[in-house]
Amino acid sequence: MSVAKQLYELQEVDLELESHEQALGQVVAQLGESRAVLSARSRLASENQRLEELGHKQHSLEWEIGDVTTKVAGAEEELYSGRTKNPKELANLQHEIEVLKAKRSELEDRAIEVMEQVEAATAGVGTMERELETLEAAWRAEQESLTADKERLEAELVRLKQKREMVSSQVDSEMVDLYGELKKQKGTAVARVEQGVCRGCRLSLSNAELQRARGGSLMQCSSCGRILFLA
Ligand SMILES: [Zn+2]
Repeated sequence: MSVAKQLYELQEVDLELESHEQALGQVVAQLGESRAVLSARSRLASENQRLEELGHKQHSLEWEIGDVTTKVAGAEEELYSGRTKNPKELANLQHEIEVLKAKRSELEDRAIEVMEQVEAATAGVGTMERELETLEAAWRAEQESLTADKERLEAELVRLKQKREMVSSQVDSEMVDLYGELKKQKGTAVARVEQGVCRGCRLSLSNAELQRARGGSLMQCSSCGRILFLA
């Protein structure tokens, strides 16, 4: 096998290595917490918090209504007990009862409002919980598949590195150095020659150059300096 062919093979392995490393990088970047799941969790938490606050409000209104009802019952008991005879005091009691009942009715309206808010928030929490579950399930499935991809790519990289080791060990180390230097400078070190043209710079080779290349001796393109490989 010509040195050019060996170096071309080395380049093929390097390209595969690079594309696998790139793919692994993309997979690793996607592993971890999901922004969609995190934001759904935080929206659910704040809705739960709101629901809890509404619950407190509801209880305190119920407590206030109970308190006013007790006061109404007390005042009515006093009014109808016959113990109070003074008309002015009786009128005062009646007025007090009216004020208390008006207050209770206002409290009851507010309690109904809050109850409706509690119902809406409870339904909202339920919807958010189901959405979060769906998101989490999708996220878990995605993470599992990414983890499998990661393992596959890592195994493939181990195999490719061994292959590179093997391929480069068969080539003269000076040639490997030249290859590495050209790769650093130009990205690709070895250029195929197709129809007499260097694929690295697209310049035509002279007949003399082509013949030397065909003869199997290592040649660099006179224009771009890449190692020429005739397939
Ligand atoms: Zn060239």
